This record gives sequence, C-alpha cells and structure tokens, in this order.
Amino acid sequence: MSDTERFGHVEIEINSVCDVNCPACDRYCDVAPCQNMTLAQVRRFVDESIRLDWPWVRMHILGGEPTLHPQFAEIARDLMRLRAHLQSRYPESDSLLRVLTNGRGRLADYHAWLVANEIHVAISPKDPARMPDYWDNMWTAPVDVTPGLQPACAIFGIRGCGIGLTRHGFFLCGAGASIARVCGLDIGVQRLDDLTMPAMLAQADAICRLCAHKEGYHIRLRDSGPVAGPFWADALARYRAAPPPMTLYGETK
Ligand code: SF4
Ligand code: SF4
Repeated sequence: MSDTERFGHVEIEINSVCDVNCPACDRYCDVAPCQNMTLAQVRRFVDESIRLDWPWVRMHILGGEPTLHPQFAEIARDLMRLRAHLQSRYPESDSLLRVLTNGRGRLADYHAWLVANEIHVAISPKDPARMPDYWDNMWTAPVDVTPGLQPACAIFGIRGCGIGLTRHGFFLCGAGASIARVCGLDIGVQRLDDLTMPAMLAQADAICRLCAHKEGYHIRLRDSGPVAGPFWADALARYRAAPPPMTLYGETK
C-alpha cells in the first residue's frame, strides 16, 4: 500500500462493554470498560466517508458486545446508508457490512432483522472459564522485555483486521485503539482526510510496543495465568484511579 492509497477495512467499535468479560480481552472490556460511541459519531463517520467517496470494502460493527448498544439498530441503519452509497459509487465492490458478536448480548432481538437487511452476522462464542490456547495475555507487553520501538505487526490496518474507529478516532487497529484509550495515548486520527499510512505508522511506533499481539512476542494466557506484567500492572492501576482524558471523535472540526 502506498502512502496515498486508502484503507479498505474498518472495525467500528461502538461500545467497549461486554456480557462475557473474557480475561485479557483485547478491548479491555473486563478491566477497563468505557462509555459507548454515540450515534452522532457513527453519523459523522458515515458522512465523512460519503463526502470523500472512501472506498470501504469491509465494515465491521463490533465491541465489546455491539448488540448491547442501546442504539444498535440506528447505528446499523446508518451504516446501511453508507453501504448503499458505496454500492452505487463502486458497483463492482461487495461493500460487506458485518456484525461481530459473542452470540449473546441482545443478538436474539436483532438476528432476523440483520439477516433480512443483508448484514452478515459472525458469531464467536467465548467462555471465560475456558479461553482458547491462542489467547494472548493483553496485560503483558513487549516493552516489559525489550525497551524501545517495535515494528507494526501483520494485523495492522489493511494487512489484517482493519483500521479501528472508536469514540476517540481512527487507530491502526482495534486492539491498538483500546491500548491507546487505557494508556491515555491521545493520538487518534480525528478526520478521515487524515487517515494515511504515515499517520498509522506513527501510531504503531507509540502503541505496538505495548501490545501482546505483537508478532514474535505473544505471551499466552494459558502459559502466564491471569497476571499482569510491569507495564500493564501500572497502566491499569492508573486507569482505575482515573481514566485518562482523550479527545472525542467529532470534537475536532
Ligand atoms: S466476548 Fe469478545 S469483546 Fe467480549 S470480553 Fe470476550 S473478547 Fe472481549
Ligand atoms: S502490535 Fe498490536 S497495536 Fe500493533 S498492529 Fe499489532 S495488534 Fe495492532
């Protein structure tokens, strides 16, 4: 991807609360939940995307558990408005709209409606008492072992999960957005016009060193147990004392 090419995948984290609360959730729902993204923020994203004809090919609605958001249906409708625009603008593209859910929350209330509106539903059940072997311990970090910068890993941006959009702006990936939120790294990109590869690589310099998903690092929860390393023990204690102030997406004109 060149510096000017536009990212095609986005994960819209409409909430950071969950009814399952897996240990070491990479959205920190279990230990550091926060307020929801607002409908107005989602509308801003939709309006920015339409104004720029941004060629999203895959839009994921997720959380937390997204169906718990009190305005889940309105949010999905607004993203359908964006999907319709993209389908008329880029008829050769699929413009996939998908909900990622743990299968609980309020999915039962919405499932048939989502299917009727051709919103794909991806269910990934979790059991906090039996987390899978691959589960990274997000309370550990490469910086505990190796100080200094870390290169971005393969799930970064277009190479994997996609850009993360949260109530605090655009980030290089969803896990990175949550790390920034909990640690008070107020470096979210606030305007879609500014969502560039150099901007995301600058975020990678600040965030990847704090992330247990980092390629080549991976401390698994099954090996470490539910314990925090030095960096995250301190970061979570600071968050519990007072969540750090962060810019809200939509505050910046
Ligand atoms: S189900 Fe997903 S969002 Fe919920 S706590 Fe587990 S990993 Fe996090
Ligand atoms: S190391 Fe973490 S923050 Fe960095 S790109 Fe990978 S998943 Fe995202």
